[in-house]
Amino acid sequence: MADDASQPLRVFFFPLMSPGHMIPMIDIAKLFARHGAAVTVVTTPGNEPLVRPAIDRRHDGTPVVDLLLLPFPDSVAHLVPSTGEHLGAITTAEHADFMNAVFALAGPLDDLLRQHRPDCLVSDAMFPWTSATAAQLGIPRLVFYGPGAFLLCVHRSIEFRGHHAAVSSRSERFAIEGLPHRIHLEPSEISPIFKFTEMVLQQRKAEESSFGVLVNSFYELEPDYADLFRKEPVTKAYYVGPVALCDQEKEAQRGSRSSPHLGRWLSWLDSKPAGAVVYVCFGSLCELSNDQFKDLALGLEASGHLFLWVVREGAGCPPAWLPDGYERRVEGRGLVIRGWAPQVALLGHPAVGGFVTHCGWNSTLEGLTAGKPMAAWPLNYDQFVNEKLLTEVAGVGVRVRRSEAVGAARVRAEEVTAAVRELMGGGEAAAERRRRAREYAAMAKAAMKEGGSSYQDMTCLMEELMACRERKPGGALNGDVGL
Ligand code: UDP
Repeated sequence: MADDASQPLRVFFFPLMSPGHMIPMIDIAKLFARHGAAVTVVTTPGNEPLVRPAIDRRHDGTPVVDLLLLPFPDSVAHLVPSTGEHLGAITTAEHADFMNAVFALAGPLDDLLRQHRPDCLVSDAMFPWTSATAAQLGIPRLVFYGPGAFLLCVHRSIEFRGHHAAVSSRSERFAIEGLPHRIHLEPSEISPIFKFTEMVLQQRKAEESSFGVLVNSFYELEPDYADLFRKEPVTKAYYVGPVALCDQEKEAQRGSRSSPHLGRWLSWLDSKPAGAVVYVCFGSLCELSNDQFKDLALGLEASGHLFLWVVREGAGCPPAWLPDGYERRVEGRGLVIRGWAPQVALLGHPAVGGFVTHCGWNSTLEGLTAGKPMAAWPLNYDQFVNEKLLTEVAGVGVRVRRSEAVGAARVRAEEVTAAVRELMGGGEAAAERRRRAREYAAMAKAAMKEGGSSYQDMTCLMEELMACRERKPGGALNGDVGL
């Protein structure tokens, strides 16, 4: 059956259990389905409420993407917090245990793949062991990295230079070598991923034996870097994004059940002038201290601009984060959303004129796709590098400054106010950022349309995967991947 060219390509997806990875992977799964593949997403039962609502149904009621639930083995059940089965539902302190539980899914996933014999596996870069599983089954594996080509190039350069050299110099800013732009980083801005040397090595090795890398980005955003990464001798890259555009009807359901309050939030935005509201959100994982929350609250208030602020609630977030009487004081000009907001739906509203972001890759791309200039406030992981893309390469962002006196980790209220005013204010530089953001939005949409660069990469990938299956004699278990 698997070698019958008339059958749809059967593709399995195994995302890392974190909203910033699951959301784009589900979008990519839907893209594959749209290009004719029979697609299955594999995740743990506790993530079903996140995944199921984002999946469309065909006219006959069947889902466009199938879902297979893989429970954690009993032996690691105690490592999974009761608050949820993804990184956004637990505290940072619980991450290490939780990841050990996730890695214990290797055996059950292997059994599942042997039972179902798909034609291709798309799995997160954090699961390098899936390359060996795919090789044993004789099927191609595609690696999903969260971020774009710019970050991939920066990371490769740091690895080449020797991450020890980069991480060991304590304070000296250093230039990233071999890039088309002059980009500098502080050692503290290097992703903590480089501390896990063994993990990075395993990822690279797994990548070398994989079919290629799927990148949630579009060529026109970072052409120099897309070309540079394509020159990597062992890795074939496919730029298939921005994947948030793949299903605009479902954008309110991305990453959660649909919110009963969406209508109210949209009406609030409807009542505001075009481009007048700043949207503030720090993604699904960031934990800000109580003091930082207060500075942010006071800084937004003092900016004098209208704002819509999404505050993550639950795991690791402080219980008392707003100054007394704050919501009453800002009523009418500031709306605070507690919990999960449908970001893409809100960002796309014409009243939103700017985005204060932690520069997670999905948020970065969603801001660009919505055509909004951004105030970049990176906190961790790859966010410092994404910030450089926004401010120094694409020219659509301002950096939120931190005063040395308070320490690198805290941004004072005055600095929040200054960043929001710079972002939302008038003047030539602000107008230029808006113009560029609109241009990127138009390019993003064109890339995803039939004939656009991302559409073509996706078409090309499907053809190559089909050809790979046809070359394979005797079905999934007997053949050689033939890369
Ligand atoms: N997101 C959302 N509503 C929220 C918080 C986050 O829809 O209230 C989505 C956001 O649109 C993005 C993802 O969650 O798609 C966060 O990913 P990102 O890479 O920006 O940051 P991370 O959460 O991984 O730090």
